[in-house]
Amino acid sequence: MSRLKAHTLNEGRYHLKVTPCPQCDRGHWEIDKIDRSRTEPSRVDFAAHCSRCGLERTFAFTIEYEIPQRGPESECINPGREPSRIIDLGQWRSLFALLIELSDRAESKVEARRTGFQAALCLAEALKFYDDDDENDLPPRSAFFSEETAETFREHPAKFSRQALRDMQGRLPSLNTMAENVRRDARDARKRRWRFWKK
Ligand SMILES: [Zn+2]
Repeated sequence: MSRLKAHTLNEGRYHLKVTPCPQCDRGHWEIDKIDRSRTEPSRVDFAAHCSRCGLERTFAFTIEYEIPQRGPESECINPGREPSRIIDLGQWRSLFALLIELSDRAESKVEARRTGFQAALCLAEALKFYDDDDENDLPPRSAFFSEETAETFREHPAKFSRQALRDMQGRLPSLNTMAENVRRDARDARKRRWRFWKK
């Protein structure tokens, strides 16, 4: 079985979100179990099933970076500068749009801030696909892994203008500010739990 190369477990989770079910093409994957190899901890298998038709599938990953389980760092997708090999530019853009929408509809401010931070991290992943050369506002063809996303690019190149993505980024608070907000929310939640136990 060939393993998918993910930078982090989170990138693996996002990969499942953008991978359609081959049987019904409609459901999303629910993760049943995450198995880590004891001898080679970088090998991680996600056992999942399709929420609509029940098809079972295992996604086998090799994970490059371990990340902390707490605070804003636990949302890290890829600490490096190289783009993803398993989620393409079009898919990061879709994830960004989806998460921004979820953030707007969130029931609490805490949830809205966390989802907004995740959206901003997805947008940062999208921006890793552009050439270092600033003259080039459009991404290389290699930024698209499937015929489907490549076609979206051909039909709507303006959607993939780097400047357009940077403008979206510019309308959000900086990643540092968003991370600090998430950290503060986590701290407040811990304090509330502590007060509860002291009563
Ligand atoms: Zn299905």
